[in-house]
Amino acid sequence: MAYQHILVAVDLTEDCQPVIRRAVALGQCCGSKVSLVHVVEPMAMAFGGDVPMDLSSLQQQQIEQARERLDGFTTQYAELAGNCVLAYGQPRQEIHRMAKEQGCDLIVVGSHGRHGLALLLGSTSNDLLHGAPCDTLAVALKKDKA
Ligand code: AMP
Repeated sequence: MAYQHILVAVDLTEDCQPVIRRAVALGQCCGSKVSLVHVVEPMAMAFGGDVPMDLSSLQQQQIEQARERLDGFTTQYAELAGNCVLAYGQPRQEIHRMAKEQGCDLIVVGSHGRHGLALLLGSTSNDLLHGAPCDTLAVALKKDKA
């Protein structure tokens, strides 16, 4: 069964290129629509809640930079044009919500293959697997050899 609509989730680090390439290649093979999502996390959440300063302008800058990066992807990958979404909130929640709302049948994410303490500190790919509304493909990202 071919996938109809692939959702690729990107963190906008340089690691996201192999993840997008894999999703786009899969989409070409299956004739699927490919959408891309990046979720900007509320800064107050990232800093753990109580931050004694106004983060709104920093957050705005972060959103604008993310929008520029997404626009860059649409120039690079024609199949993503008009299908790049910038969401705001908690990545797992927003990505699952978008997958459901847009009827995606595959979510593609990058995986660093974390384990032990590193996993306890947080892995979005691991988090995304739990309760995913559709199949999820974790693209293995090469470890830094340095
Ligand atoms: P991590 O486990 O946090 O290193 O992230 C692994 C993968 O989760 C990334 O390669 C992306 O596919 C996805 N991801 C992480 N953060 C975000 C985000 N803010 N928005 C969308 N996808 C994300």
